Amino acid sequence: MYDIENIRKDFPILGREVYGHPLVYFDNGATTQKPRCVVEAMTDEYYNVNANVHRGVHFLSQKATELHEAARETVRSFLNARSTSEIVFTRGTTESINLVASCFGEAFMHEGDEVILSEMEHHSNIVSWQLLQARKGIKIRVIPINDDGELMWDEYERLFNAHTRMVSVTHVSNVLGTVNSVRRVVDIAHDHGVPVLVDGAQSTPHFAVDMQAIGADFFAFSGHKIYGPTGIGVLYGKEQWFDRMPPYMGGGEMIQHVTFEHTTFNELPFKFEAGTPDYVASTGLARALDYVSRIGLDRIYAHEQDLTRYALERMGRIPGMRIFGHASEHDAVISFLVGHIHHLDMGTLLDRLGIAVRTGHHCAEPLMHRLGVEGTVRASFGLYNTREEVDVLVDGIERVAKMF
Ligand code: PLP
Repeated sequence: MYDIENIRKDFPILGREVYGHPLVYFDNGATTQKPRCVVEAMTDEYYNVNANVHRGVHFLSQKATELHEAARETVRSFLNARSTSEIVFTRGTTESINLVASCFGEAFMHEGDEVILSEMEHHSNIVSWQLLQARKGIKIRVIPINDDGELMWDEYERLFNAHTRMVSVTHVSNVLGTVNSVRRVVDIAHDHGVPVLVDGAQSTPHFAVDMQAIGADFFAFSGHKIYGPTGIGVLYGKEQWFDRMPPYMGGGEMIQHVTFEHTTFNELPFKFEAGTPDYVASTGLARALDYVSRIGLDRIYAHEQDLTRYALERMGRIPGMRIFGHASEHDAVISFLVGHIHHLDMGTLLDRLGIAVRTGHHCAEPLMHRLGVEGTVRASFGLYNTREEVDVLVDGIERVAKMF
């Protein structure tokens, strides 16, 4: 039994009203709500433990360090990484991808070298590489998608050549809901001797990920999208790459010895963690990962798949409904437009009914160009959403459609 009633009680915000209506929160792709255990663990750390980590001999500093490093172990176990040396704390997926583009790019990419992205990438996995392009003159190649919103595999294979140095693709599209077979992406890239970065921002909240099964060289995700706090994320990376990459930023924590002439860097993963880390957020993230693991990601997946199928079926019957993304593996994200109703109008009017959806280009403008639209409305589901809430959304869309 998936105990949705009790699960919802863990999230106080779900009990609030918006404009006199019970909140229906369908903007989980942007960020998720936080369960009590996450907020309480962080409050407790601030009230009872707070001290800077890795630096103090005193009791509190050692306790805070223990919590921070225990959180790293929780992340390692969650990802099934081999070692905590492979787990770097960042501010989120964006920073993780920028770190790879910057440091891998610095070490291994030169003018004329190429990175392969896909047409469904979030801006964070495009612009990071464009910054490297401006600095080093690399080239960006793009895997096209078909009309169902799936990667075109033959085209992907054709993009490899002697200059290909990296493949960087999203695990799940934040617009189309497409679940990419990242194992296949990795196998093809590795056949060409090319490493792969997977953007796991939209996969980690919805189903279990296993670094040994995926085989990617780098994997990025954000705490706030998986019921954890804002301001913390993770970059997983194989030691063979991390060892050979230069640091991202300079400062405290990431050094061994400093003179004005020369600095030696700390061991992994600290080489990539300059400055005071958000050690309270790491505790919050660990509690969030414990929380989803306790419910069970397989059960969360089954619940959200049921919701997605139900929503697709009900929404598909609304006259004038256009749903974007029909991949055979479809995650808990539905992008749509109805007739000629502007996405902003739809979003604003749904909001008045207490329904929170996302509108706009979803930080994926190149994908919007491919779809031939300026923006869409996006409903994205989380572990606490219900079929009844989908009914409220469908009724809301029908009401808005009647107004136009
Ligand atoms: N990648 C994807 C696929 C996303 O959906 C997002 C956020 O929406 C990001 C990257 C960026 O995540 P963050 O803003 O947490 O760094």
